[in-house]
Amino acid sequence: MKIIIAGGSIAGLSSALTLGCVGHDVHVYERSETPLRGRGGGVVVLRHMLRFLEQHGHFTQEMISVPTQLRRRIGTDGQLISEEPEKLPFSSWDSVYRSLCSMLPADQISYGQEITGYTERDNGIEVHFGAGNSILADILVAGDGGGSRIRAKVFPEHVPTYAGYVAWRGIVDESTFTPSSIETLVNAFTMFRESGHMFMAFLIPGINGSLEPGRRRFNWLWYRNENDPSVMNKHLTDNLGQLHHSSIGPGRLSSESISELCQLAREFLPAVLQQLVRKTQQPFFQSIYDALSPSFSLGRIVLVGDAACTVRPHTGSGTSKAADDAISLAEALGHEYGNEVQPALQSWASRRREEVEKLLRKGPELAAFFGLGHNSTANF
Ligand SMILES: Cc1cc2nc3c(=O)[nH]c(=O)nc-3n(C[C@H](O)[C@H](O)[C@H](O)COP(=O)(O)OP(=O)(O)OC[C@H]3O[C@@H](n4cnc5c(N)ncnc54)[C@H](O)[C@@H]3O)c2cc1C
Repeated sequence: MKIIIAGGSIAGLSSALTLGCVGHDVHVYERSETPLRGRGGGVVVLRHMLRFLEQHGHFTQEMISVPTQLRRRIGTDGQLISEEPEKLPFSSWDSVYRSLCSMLPADQISYGQEITGYTERDNGIEVHFGAGNSILADILVAGDGGGSRIRAKVFPEHVPTYAGYVAWRGIVDESTFTPSSIETLVNAFTMFRESGHMFMAFLIPGINGSLEPGRRRFNWLWYRNENDPSVMNKHLTDNLGQLHHSSIGPGRLSSESISELCQLAREFLPAVLQQLVRKTQQPFFQSIYDALSPSFSLGRIVLVGDAACTVRPHTGSGTSKAADDAISLAEALGHEYGNEVQPALQSWASRRREEVEKLLRKGPELAAFFGLGHNSTANF
């Protein structure tokens, strides 16, 4: 089949790889003019995504992740509250992205091509592009992220719900600090939490994938409860005065938001964590939403990754879920589906939605345990 994929990020690339493997003619259209870079922060690379990368390419856990040895919780004065051994494979969004990109033939992805709509035809689906052209395909896979335009067209009644908290995020080079000032943060997943907020920091590979001490980067995330719409609007207005729906990327926060972030850090964080925030050149901001599409497929359209369902970031499962979407979709569209593509898509969609719903429930439970969001049952 001829399959068009909207979005060349984690879900879109994973789907292109698996669908290509089972013999389909796939092409990815990404609206960004250039390959994506430095877009996301650190990610925990869970088992499924690692297996995916190992099976489809030549990247192993050791090559893309900085394993931590300990999970540490510290208090307001920086004192150690608890410490336990824990190995978590922390990587960066860039490393996962680069691994996926390196496996997809370059002629299967086009940049600077925004998909603006589609028309269902008897013999396929006509996909429309910003430049005014259209291409007829058998299936359109929407890997166009949490704010999916395709999902909005397929299910206009569906609106993502705000979870009641935001994430400030940042990445800062390990080399910015003297080794003694960050000693306690190296080799550990460090956590600080108090009523209504939780801060996490861990090392991730350098921008070019380096795992060498001194060339890695710290990734930090600071989740904070926020229910004041005026505060949200202020932080979601970028340095050019444009208001965004749910996130502001690196380099786009207004100077007012950055100074407010630094002020909050001074007020609430232990000194060792304050320095991470202060030295971060391009912090970014994200409000946390839950989105579960009413179905993962309609007609010849399929939703994958965050377009299908956005899981809470602290479950660390977004990239693995995207990989599982891609694997299960390719299995459903392997050799067994015969000529009836739409029933095969429907049956995949209902199976996959059930599996994902279980994962989705974990997020609010974990957030409530951490005292984050609506219905938090703070446990400190
Ligand atoms: C704060 C935070 C922390 C996170 N931490 C983790 C973690 O630790 N572990 C983990 O596994 N996951 C984590 N995630 C989630 C993870 O990043 C995503 O779930 C995963 O990358 C899947 O994203 P995606 O490919 O579906 O969508 P996106 O990465 O949003 O990509 C969508 C792509 O589609 C393109 N696009 C959009 N519209 C169009 C269009 N009309 N035409 C063409 N292209 C289009 C966009 O330019 C973009 O490249 C985190 C997320 C957040 C917000």
